Amino acid sequence: MRVLITGAAGFLGSHLSDRFLAEGHQVVGMDNFITGSPDNIAHLAGQSRFEFIEHNVSRFVDVAGPIDGVLHFASPASPIDYLKFPIQTLKVGSLGTHNLLGVAKAKGARFLLASTSEVYGDPLVHPQPESYWGNVNPVGPRGVYDEAKRFAEAITMAYHRYHGLPTRIVRIFNTYGPRMRAEDGRVVSNFIVQALRGQALTIYGDGGQTRSFCYVTDLIDGIYRLFSSDRSDPTNLGNPNEFTVRQLAELVRTKIPGAGPVVAEPLPVDDPKVRRPDISVARQVLGWEPEVQLDAGLDQTIVHFRRVLGQ
Ligand code: UDP
Repeated sequence: MRVLITGAAGFLGSHLSDRFLAEGHQVVGMDNFITGSPDNIAHLAGQSRFEFIEHNVSRFVDVAGPIDGVLHFASPASPIDYLKFPIQTLKVGSLGTHNLLGVAKAKGARFLLASTSEVYGDPLVHPQPESYWGNVNPVGPRGVYDEAKRFAEAITMAYHRYHGLPTRIVRIFNTYGPRMRAEDGRVVSNFIVQALRGQALTIYGDGGQTRSFCYVTDLIDGIYRLFSSDRSDPTNLGNPNEFTVRQLAELVRTKIPGAGPVVAEPLPVDDPKVRRPDISVARQVLGWEPEVQLDAGLDQTIVHFRRVLGQ
């Protein structure tokens, strides 16, 4: 196959590109580096089955030659990023998704949308099954991401139903691992980087809010399985082991000697109080189960950030 992966220079897009190349496929990577980095794909420079096109997918997308799959991973995805780039986030989820569905339709390709647990908002059902419609504030600061992804899901299903396009939708829960940016702003990268610098770990609010952290290799395996399956309804992928943010901070502190203390900072607006995927569907339909526990995944991620920080 020859697949187009948007956001290929990002955290997930670059790992996904590696996986498709490892499976023997050809990959056309696309990114405008708004939050991605050339460093994430530098190792693919000499790889003959990898091509790269620098392009903003919110503008018309033109790719020469046959394409068998389109995997849309382009978007700012960290809360600090989509607060910094609200319009671009809305555009890539809406105009970008529309453009890429158009590419898939024109090429006769399978389409996979990277959606998010943010479609559930601050959830009133816990854990979150795919059948839950969510509790999203459309006009809050997170609305630019949440509503863009909800629109992206809606237009993907419309192309599926109206045009018969083969589509897949993955709802990705919190994921971490090598190639996250030091300044990404998310909780795992923040705590590790702060600890390695001997700084205080910033807990927003009382730290009682929960998240469930999936290691990147597990997630990529689930996405590959979903792409290869025939399931068009949205599918949760994530690790169902749930931790409070305070537990995560303490775990990181035990792993990094010299880490500073824990300090409290204000809780961001509309910060979800709990989050944990119900992965019954992925287990049943994809035979998928995350394997890497937080303890081992954090160790790998700490190795990555030590290298990034030159330690
Ligand atoms: N958080 C925190 N300290 C940080 C960064 C994040 O306490 O330095 C909290 C944040 O308020 C949220 C959780 O950690 O409750 C996860 O935040 P993240 O930005 O990683 O992603 P989210 O799950 O909110 O999209």
